[in-house]
Amino acid sequence: MPLSPAKFPDLIEAISATLNEHADAITQLDQAIGDGDHVFNLQRGVEALQSHATEIADLDWPAAWQKIGMTVMAAIGGASGSLYATLFISLNKNTKDKPVSIQTFAEAFQLAVAAVKQRGKADVGEKTMLDVWVPVAETLKRAVSEGQQLNVILDQVCAAAEAGVESTRDMLATKGRASFLGERSKGHIDAGAKTAQLMIEAIARQIRS
Ligand code: ADP
Ligand code: MG
Ligand code: MG
Repeated sequence: MPLSPAKFPDLIEAISATLNEHADAITQLDQAIGDGDHVFNLQRGVEALQSHATEIADLDWPAAWQKIGMTVMAAIGGASGSLYATLFISLNKNTKDKPVSIQTFAEAFQLAVAAVKQRGKADVGEKTMLDVWVPVAETLKRAVSEGQQLNVILDQVCAAAEAGVESTRDMLATKGRASFLGERSKGHIDAGAKTAQLMIEAIARQIRS
């Protein structure tokens, strides 16, 4: 694994910084087709995670995923809270008692994204965060199984995330609040897809540094 939970305080700091930097733009996206609270919801979760960061740094990955999931579930309201909690709790379930490796993570991550799909009854093409998480999970798994070098894996994952965000622009929203707008949801990228991509980019930067 390129990162241990000891790096969690740095990771969450980097995620906080990117969300703060792009907060206004994300709010505008969620205002255009949602209720405008998305970045605030995530920032609440990030603050809660920061307050537990040293504790999480002392755990192994499976225990860290569980703690992250429970913290996010308690702190974040809105659709994104239960979806991210599902992602992390599923990561706990699928990494427990497995060797700590990028192969284990890539497989667990794809299962976790599948759990998010199930939880939100959504899939790619519905203008949600899944338009980033699904291709990212597939790209990660493929690049890892091809035995690519870490920097190549990171480049490919970041490219998949960017393409995923952009793909949401002309989609019709069929899940979440944006679906209430029907055709008017077209023409704006999805806020949850954008924050997913920003967080992936921040994590990749931390791994590279
Ligand atoms: P809320 O819509 O409850 O205000 P947020 O604003 O925090 O919650 O999150 C909205 C984001 O959640 C959307 O931009 C979209 O990416 C994602 N989302 C909403 N519903 C779903 C769903 N059923 N499956 C996957 N992602 C969803
Ligand atoms: Mg919202
Ligand atoms: Mg809301």
